[in-house]
Amino acid sequence: MTGRGLPVKVSDNTLYFLSFFGERMPDFHPVAQTLLDWFAQNMRPLPWRADYSPYHVWISEVMLQQTQMERGVEYFRRWIAALPDPPAVATAHEDEVLKLWEGLGYYSRARNLIKAARVMVRDHHGRVPDDEAALRALPGIGPYTARAIASLAFGHDLAVVDANVERVFSRLFDVDTPVRETATKRRIADLAQQLLPPGRARDYNQAVMEFGALVCRKNPDCGHCPLAAHCEARRLGIVAHRPVPGKQADIQHVDVATGVVRRGGLLFIQRRPEDGVWGGLWEFPGGTVEPGEIPEQTIVREYMEELEWAVAPTRRIATIRHGYTRFRVTLHCFELEFLHGDAENPPLHEATQCRWIPLADLGRYALPAGHRKLADMLSAAEGGEGEGEGERKK
Ligand code: SF4
Repeated sequence: MTGRGLPVKVSDNTLYFLSFFGERMPDFHPVAQTLLDWFAQNMRPLPWRADYSPYHVWISEVMLQQTQMERGVEYFRRWIAALPDPPAVATAHEDEVLKLWEGLGYYSRARNLIKAARVMVRDHHGRVPDDEAALRALPGIGPYTARAIASLAFGHDLAVVDANVERVFSRLFDVDTPVRETATKRRIADLAQQLLPPGRARDYNQAVMEFGALVCRKNPDCGHCPLAAHCEARRLGIVAHRPVPGKQADIQHVDVATGVVRRGGLLFIQRRPEDGVWGGLWEFPGGTVEPGEIPEQTIVREYMEELEWAVAPTRRIATIRHGYTRFRVTLHCFELEFLHGDAENPPLHEATQCRWIPLADLGRYALPAGHRKLADMLSAAEGGEGEGEGERKK
């Protein structure tokens, strides 16, 4: 058998060769071949793997950013049932899209799906475009997502790198620099690309990510690992030190006050501006507790600043703790008495719309996670399950 050897430096002390044999089956790198074999035996039956339609791959990739797999599958099924193709997303009402996204966080992703779908309708015959450059030009699609769609849906030979891939390659090839550093990311991306078996990008990319999720986890299952014989970190006894972490972002604790005003059996909610955190979602008014304030003072000030309403707290409904990105939020929730102001047409200084709605209708609106918990507590209390007093954790 003759072939052209392509040397691929995969670690400081390891040199492998990839060989290509014209039209014949390529001799894949043993790590890549092992991953492909493992994936064929162990892949999870995820809904987008049924047909790898570009639309399904696109939605799943965007959803799975920052979302656990089981949760992502549930949201994916609901989304596809409601919005089966890009034209459906392009013409959907933003409230419907945000409601489908409620609970996944990072709501700009949902709004970008609408924007990207509209570009697909306008410029790509209502379909997901099939090349990396066109994908990158779409709102909300960065380098990772573009390569994921191009490889998984269209078979382009492009390696993708997510946190799972970084962990697997850091260990296999003893990458000894922090994974958060750009140079390290580039090094791992190069490794992943060099090992990619031509024509097998879909399976290879998913194999590495799946392997990182199921075997080479944070606490890896080295005892049952089919790649143990190839693993530099295991050979050196330093698995616990790979990948090398970078400096963690500091966790910030924030106190926020919010309040519910009732009038004639209806609750007041307002819609947040498009830009900024939770853009386009509905909420009970409120804001951050400033230094020197107690939450009861905050909610009175916030209602005056946001709506020019005078209100008075009558009771504390709950204290809800939840987290997002690097923030840990304590949400102080109050029942409020409306004292004076323009109840029907308040000036909206921090919102784009407002409504008085029955409690039973709250489920139709997309709310930030903390406000959804409060809404659930109000509903439970109204349903005779108590006042919801106390503390809930994420
Ligand atoms: S031996 Fe352990 S650390 Fe190395 S690739 Fe396998 S699971 Fe990961």
